[in-house]
Amino acid sequence: METAYFNGKFIPKDEISISPDDRGFLFADGIYEVARWYESFFYDMTSHVTRLKRSLRELRINWDGADLFPSIANDLIRLNKLGSQQAMVYFQVTRGAAVRTHYFPSPETTPTVYANAWGFVPDNQSLESGIKVMLKEDIRWSRCDIKSIALLPNTISFQEAFENGMKECIFVRNGLITEGSHSNIFFVIDGTLFTHPESNQVLSGITRKNVLRIAQELGIKIREEAVQENRIRFIREAFITNTSAEVTPVIDLGGNTLGDGLPGPMTRLIREKFDAEIKAIKG
Ligand code: PMP
Repeated sequence: METAYFNGKFIPKDEISISPDDRGFLFADGIYEVARWYESFFYDMTSHVTRLKRSLRELRINWDGADLFPSIANDLIRLNKLGSQQAMVYFQVTRGAAVRTHYFPSPETTPTVYANAWGFVPDNQSLESGIKVMLKEDIRWSRCDIKSIALLPNTISFQEAFENGMKECIFVRNGLITEGSHSNIFFVIDGTLFTHPESNQVLSGITRKNVLRIAQELGIKIREEAVQENRIRFIREAFITNTSAEVTPVIDLGGNTLGDGLPGPMTRLIREKFDAEIKAIKG
């Protein structure tokens, strides 16, 4: 029986009931986080808490429990006996249940807080061999910096990639490559590492931030600058980053083979350093 967290209690997931007036249900009026457990620790939980607080602040959801995220996450790992394996914790806060109006309900409305955890098996095939990704017009809103649960443009875009045998859908807005449906993307052009700058067009990924730090430590030349779709022919390497995919090589971008169609040397170097950091924390 899976144990989940719901509004202050750890209870069997099946026993959770949520009001049909919940603004998460009616308006996707909520935010979420996903953190990864590596057999004995959460990777960069501090950044997840910081981003959770930022998302709440940006949507003006009054919940002062964000600092509880690490202890709730640890409890979920323990209660679901996931301690010695890899796992994910999902955490969501909505504005709560209120009469359906387009204006926000009273600030006293109690937010709905939900979290669960599950065992996670990394996609080693993709990590080793690289993935093919689709390119599509970015049909999302202009606050992609908020980790909102309103993910319909992301899911319908990803579904199209999935149905075409591809592992991610990469978005293009006004000719510029932004990010994936659930990942950030990096490119190697002329030996320089490129990724879209932090802005309202992309989510500030925690893996993105750590990869930029690692690249800097490796002495790699970095430009936080969007790459134009019409410069694809100059891209030698690419990789996506997110909490579950870590650093996953991209070998084909919208039907264009990158480099020699294999994970490139800079991608492999960054991946190795990322893996080494995880191993070092594990001890
Ligand atoms: N962009 C989007 C749109 C995402 O959904 C995600 C996954 N949360 C990311 C980037 C990567 O973020 P992170 O590295 O924090 O998982």
